Amino acid sequence: MTRAHEMNDAEIKEKSVSNGKLGVFIETYGCQMNEYDSELVRAILLKESFREVAGLDDADVVLLNTCAVREHAHNRIYGRLQQLSHIKKTRELTVGVLGCMAQNLKMELLDNNLHVDIVAGPDSYRNLPRLIRESRDDKKQTSSIDLSEFETYDDIYPERREGVNAWVAIMRGCDNFCTFCVVPYTRGRERSRPFESVLEETSRLVADGYTQVSLLGQNVNSYEHNGRRFADLIAAVADIPGIRRVRFTSPHPKDFPDDLLQAIKSHPHICKHVHLPLQAGSDRILKMMRRLHNGGQFVDLSSHIRDTIPGVILTTDVILGFPTESREEFMETVKVMETVKFDSAFIFNYSERKGTVARRRWKDDIPPEEKKYRITYLNDVQRNISLEQNRRHIGEIHEILVEGPSKRNPSDWSGRNDGNKLVIFPHTSEKAGDYINVRITAASPNAMKGTRL
Ligand code: SF4
Repeated sequence: MTRAHEMNDAEIKEKSVSNGKLGVFIETYGCQMNEYDSELVRAILLKESFREVAGLDDADVVLLNTCAVREHAHNRIYGRLQQLSHIKKTRELTVGVLGCMAQNLKMELLDNNLHVDIVAGPDSYRNLPRLIRESRDDKKQTSSIDLSEFETYDDIYPERREGVNAWVAIMRGCDNFCTFCVVPYTRGRERSRPFESVLEETSRLVADGYTQVSLLGQNVNSYEHNGRRFADLIAAVADIPGIRRVRFTSPHPKDFPDDLLQAIKSHPHICKHVHLPLQAGSDRILKMMRRLHNGGQFVDLSSHIRDTIPGVILTTDVILGFPTESREEFMETVKVMETVKFDSAFIFNYSERKGTVARRRWKDDIPPEEKKYRITYLNDVQRNISLEQNRRHIGEIHEILVEGPSKRNPSDWSGRNDGNKLVIFPHTSEKAGDYINVRITAASPNAMKGTRL
């Protein structure tokens, strides 16, 4: 087993023998960019006089890397902070809030009685060692939330802990200002990481045993460094010896370049999977969201992608119940979903986020029971489409990157095919990180089953 394929609790413990170093426990909420940022934070702290611990019980410092994009994550984090404030009454524990919620709610987090000691936004992680020490030494709250036009952490090699996939951020921030989204305010202006630094990190990942990387950006189509664009970058990453699979997320439908489609089509190591966020099907709602394309253009782009890359897997994100969205407009979203037939979709109800244009301009006026009706309806529609799409693969042979035991039945193992679909198979001698061939024998909306060849 390589370092890529997991560091267990015992190893973390051994690595973290005290030596007078403060024990840090990091909890991550939200998106893959946050997962990646937690790996950066771990690297920054381990370089200084901190050690990682495997659980809260052994921690001197707990850092919550937070998400402000969805209400659900927001509520979970508030619940967690309340639990931690009880623990703080029984022993010394420094509590830090990082990430988008820290950036968005700084004063709220410091002022209320949650007993938060440190608040650090996504561009402030280099300051964390100092913030933690100042907070503990001077028994005071510390914070750093300045956004930077330049910070990409490109000189820091993240400390990854588990899994067969390595996330690699290629850019930070976003300039799109979709009206529902808090990211441009919490992560700042868009900036691309140097081309060479992404290649260097990927080569190091290969040396550490990874064969799959996922390139991350809020809008990868906007990547630009010294005249080189995302299509150049992904092809160069896929060319690195030892790399077998390159994924990416997310492109914006407003500017999907043809050279990227050609790169995906022609490069054997670039996965034939495109995650294309739809958000809504109604032209009026898309305009209110400031998505810069309409429903017809989205459907045309989806057909163009399917025509260019035969067999491509398409997935999406949808927001239901945007302010003033009528039932008829919701049905336009359903229609697009039925037309495009995504392989899977992340479907969410709209919720107001502090600082966004949508919250300033429009009341969250779709009643909860109507939102519930719509999300149930669309989930049912999508479940049937996903089942239909997965059933198409029965009888085919797929190459699977093995991940580990299946969550439902540990005697089965799971892995993912090129299109990122979950495939379950009976375990014999496979190890995480192996590539195996599996014949697909059954399908459900969320996964496929198969037998190893
Ligand atoms: S593209 Fe829109 S939804 Fe995506 S991060 Fe940027 S503002 Fe948010």
